[in-house]
Amino acid sequence: MKTLKYRRPRGTRDIIPEEYELRERLLEKVQKTIRAYGYKFIITPVFERTELFIRSIGDSTDIVEKEMYTFKDKKGRSFTLRPEGTAPVMRAFLENGIVPPAKLAYVMNMFRAERPQKGRLREFWQVGVEAIGVKDPLVDAEVIEMGYSILKELGAEKLVVLLNSIGSIDERQAYKKALLDYINEKEQDGSLDLCEDCKRRKNKNPLRILDCKIDGPKLKDAPSLTEFLSPESLKYFNEVKKYLDRWKVNYREEPRLVRGLDYYNHTAFEIVSEKIGVQDTLLGGGRYDSLAEDMGGPATPAIGWAMGLERIIDYFYRIPIIPGPFYFVTTVNEFSKGYAIGLLKKIREWKIPSDMTFEPKSLKAQMKIADRLNAVKAVIVGEDEIKLQKVRVRDLETGKEELVPEKDLVRIYEEYLAERRKKGLI
Ligand code: ATP
Ligand code: MG
Repeated sequence: MKTLKYRRPRGTRDIIPEEYELRERLLEKVQKTIRAYGYKFIITPVFERTELFIRSIGDSTDIVEKEMYTFKDKKGRSFTLRPEGTAPVMRAFLENGIVPPAKLAYVMNMFRAERPQKGRLREFWQVGVEAIGVKDPLVDAEVIEMGYSILKELGAEKLVVLLNSIGSIDERQAYKKALLDYINEKEQDGSLDLCEDCKRRKNKNPLRILDCKIDGPKLKDAPSLTEFLSPESLKYFNEVKKYLDRWKVNYREEPRLVRGLDYYNHTAFEIVSEKIGVQDTLLGGGRYDSLAEDMGGPATPAIGWAMGLERIIDYFYRIPIIPGPFYFVTTVNEFSKGYAIGLLKKIREWKIPSDMTFEPKSLKAQMKIADRLNAVKAVIVGEDEIKLQKVRVRDLETGKEELVPEKDLVRIYEEYLAERRKKGLI
């Protein structure tokens, strides 16, 4: 085999036709459900000013510390390929004067310079939602329940919502101090040795250590954030849980869940599947009531989540075999070929996927090609058929044939679609 000169960048993927079909079907379902909850879709630019992400996500997060694709333009301004959707969507909400309450959703690709591995890409797709302008436990529960339902609908099994309240900024401040005291004490008596990243994070944002894959588990006995929540925060959290119970969402309280991004407060959650293990989160989100104000807009509470499309596809789906052209038109000689290209054009005007071979080939060879393309029916145009003003349609699976007038080709196709729909194949 010759060695290819070019390959796609590590951590990216080509979406070849089979996966494309699968994605379209998944997205169609997801978008329908999201719209049923009252959301409207938007798209923001692939790149934004770098400050947008640094300021809103926070400079002690993994994303800002090491995962951003940042570049300078010719005038020396710094831009970054979006690593997440919340900050750009909030920016777009403010900049376009969208009136709250607003429910905005997106399907966008994200870019993070991570070490590529299963479930972890450098370019990946997220479906996300942001409910902007309302602070009410019912909204938190609604947003979580929607994510849970979507994952269920997509076929994800053994789902659990990991749920926490990370309180207000003041409450977190008090907790940060307590956590820091605990860590310092343990470090001094030699029973705790933090990783390099966490040593740095410790003074900037010790909460992030709870989220660290290496050091998080070492802090099992550290004080819990829940103990630092005010009665109001606890009440809010209890109501969220009450509504989740009401909607029969399977959740588990996880007092150490803090989420990686700085802009969160109060409700924080992730949805995992116990079938694939909890390390690969399918969906993550939380409330972020100060982000709009931090960006120079009016105080606007909000909550949202994002889910990774590839993790769902990779863990819960087999890539399907997709049918080729529905009709493969075959000819027997030059005369029938002249007729067939007219017919092909008509079939395409009916928007039925169809094709034929243009170079002269025997009928047998044409059938072989139809087979290889995974075509569903062959349309045989011979001199007898032309004389009768009819075409012969052969089912390529059963070999059954029928002689029908041209316009019946539409009916046959529609019956096929109806059948597939009934079987849940489309
Ligand atoms: P993790 O802890 O796995 O790094 P995260 O906290 O960085 O996740 P979020 O920023 O909350 O993840 O993104 C939401 C979802 O997007 C994740 O739950 C996951 O499904 C998906 N996701 C995040 N990073 C990647 C990636 N590098 N490749 C593929 N999907 C990803
Ligand atoms: Mg991450």
